[in-house]
Order: sequence, then structure tokens, then C-alpha cells
Amino acid sequence: MNELVEKILSGDIRTVAKVIRDIDDGVGDIRTILKDLYPYTGRAYVIGITGSPGVGKSTLVDKMISHLRDMRKTVGVLAVDPTSPFSGGAILGDRVRMQKHSLDEGVFIRSLATRGHFGGLTQSTRSAIDVLDAMGKDYILVETVGVGQDEVDVMKIVHTTIVVVIPGMGDDIQAIKAGILEVGDIFVVNKADREGADKTVQELQMMLEMNEDKFEKGLWKPPILKVEALFDKGVKELLDEVNRHAQYLKEHWEGLTLRRQKKKVKEELKEMVKGRLIETVFQELIRSGDFERSVEEIVEGKVDPYTASERLVLPRLRLNSQGNMSVN
Ligand code: GDP
Repeated sequence: MNELVEKILSGDIRTVAKVIRDIDDGVGDIRTILKDLYPYTGRAYVIGITGSPGVGKSTLVDKMISHLRDMRKTVGVLAVDPTSPFSGGAILGDRVRMQKHSLDEGVFIRSLATRGHFGGLTQSTRSAIDVLDAMGKDYILVETVGVGQDEVDVMKIVHTTIVVVIPGMGDDIQAIKAGILEVGDIFVVNKADREGADKTVQELQMMLEMNEDKFEKGLWKPPILKVEALFDKGVKELLDEVNRHAQYLKEHWEGLTLRRQKKKVKEELKEMVKGRLIETVFQELIRSGDFERSVEEIVEGKVDPYTASERLVLPRLRLNSQGNMSVN
């Protein structure tokens, strides 16, 4: 077995940090390592925390870590920040709230910014989750920094998604509801010590009810919780709801472990095939100079981009223009 893999499995923090940094930078022979790690994944429970900047996600995560540690659970945290210029190894400035945990061996915190990875943010996050999972963390908290499509996609790979809003965010809720409502398993109205928390709960309730057909009878109905992360109020109850959702998943998923849930495996494989195809074909296009040549030809008006892309891709996949594989 690869020495790095052995070290990860034994929980070696430096190796894990290095491998996660390589994943983030898209360098090194990550695939070989991930292949070897895969049989050791599927044990961790992965919780996503998403919401606009400033709603209190880091504060909440910090308190969740404390409660999980009280329960003698080990915790990995990934702060996913596509806008961050910092390297994956760095703990972001605004993560100082969690820094007290960095002395605790049962807690491992890293940020992911992801440049240069072909599979994109979701794939890097998934790979980093696998590494933390294989190193033996019981819970992995994935905190996203924004509320864009990237974040919605990342939330699709976790087991339980917590969407955090704050009182008086009515308009914002409207703005984010499209993707977020569908991925949210639990909704948190944080800063409930502030005025208007009940109104925000009602607004969320209404929005969820409008989407009722999505939550058919017997299926999971996302609870809405009032929380004061700063004062550690409602955080224990939040973890109870996470547990309840985990039980729900266990009763409804197909597959041996959380990780092998069919729906997630489907998504995962689809993305990996996509990433692999693009990477393989693109590298060849660049290497051969065909890509640059086509760009020139389009600029000069010699060919349209539809035809050009077809000419670039199809022969390399041995496809004819109907998209069928030709037999050689
Ligand atoms: P993030 O950007 O979503 O990670 O938000 P932070 O965790 O950095 O919190 C932003 C600010 O909100 C900080 O000043 C926190 O102290 C504050 N905050 C977090 N939770 C609460 C809360 O429950 N009540 C109040 N009043 N402030 C809070």
C-alpha cells in the first residue's frame, strides 16, 4: 500500500493536511491515493452548513464541534470558500472562532478554495471529505461561505444540509430560495435573540409549504429551528434534528452505507465521468495545438464554433457526427 495512504489511515495530521492541499491545488497523484482510500470511506456522517456571509455559520460550527466533542465524537471541518485566495492549508482569518479547537487532536479544520481542479469545487470537496472520512473522523462539517450555485452543488454531496438565515432576511430568503429550499434538510433561524425571528420562521414555513408537493407524504419535512449560536442556545437541539434526519436516511436509502446511497453514487459517478472526459480530451487538444488552431479559424471566420467543437471532439472519441461509437 502507498505510504501516504497508510499514514492517512493512521490519522497522521501532516499527511492529511498535505493531501488536502494537493487536492485543492489539483497537483500530485491524488487519484491513486483516493482509489486506495475509497474502501475505507463511508463511515463518517457529513453535515453541510450553508447561508449568506455573516449569518453566523462559523459561530454555529464552533458550537457544534464543542457538542460533538462532548459526545466523544471526532470532527473534521472543511470551510469551502471558492472566493478565497488563500491556500488550502490555511485557516482563514474569520475561522479564528474555531481556532481553540485546533489544539484538540480530535478536531481537524481546513479550508478549501480550489483552483485548478478539473472536477471543480464539488469534486475537490468530495475528495477532501473522503480523506477525512478515511482518517477516521466521525463527523465532517462542510461549511460553505456563499450562497451561489457552487454551494448548492456542494450541499448535494452531504448527508444533512443545514441552511442558516437570520431575522429580517425576508428578501434574501426570496433570493436564495430556488436552489437552497430544495437542498435544505434543516433550516436554522440564527440570531434568534434579535427581533423578528418568529416572523422569519413563519416566512420560511410558508415557502416550504408552497413547495409541499416536493415533500410528499411520509418524506422528510425540513424542521425550522430558532438558534442563538453565539450563546449556544438551540445548538444541541439542532444536533438532535441532524440525528433524526440521519435515522430517516437510514430507513430510506438503498445501499450498504451512507456513502453508497444509490442517488449519491449516481451523481458522483456522473461527475467523475464528466471530469475525466473533459480532462482527457482537453489535454490532448491543447497538446496537439488543435484547440488554438480552431480558435484562430473561428476568429478568422473560417469555421463556426459548432462545427469546430464537433471536429475537435468526435474523432477523439471515435464518434461519428450522430454521436454513435464507430467500430474500428
Ligand atoms: P459567518 O460569516 O456566517 O460564518 O458568520 P460568523 O460566525 O462569522 O458570525 C458573524 C457575526 O454574527 C459575528 O459577529 C458573531 O458573533 C455574530 N453572531 C453569531 N451568532 C449570533 C447569535 O446567535 N446572535 C447574535 N446576536 N450574533 C451572533
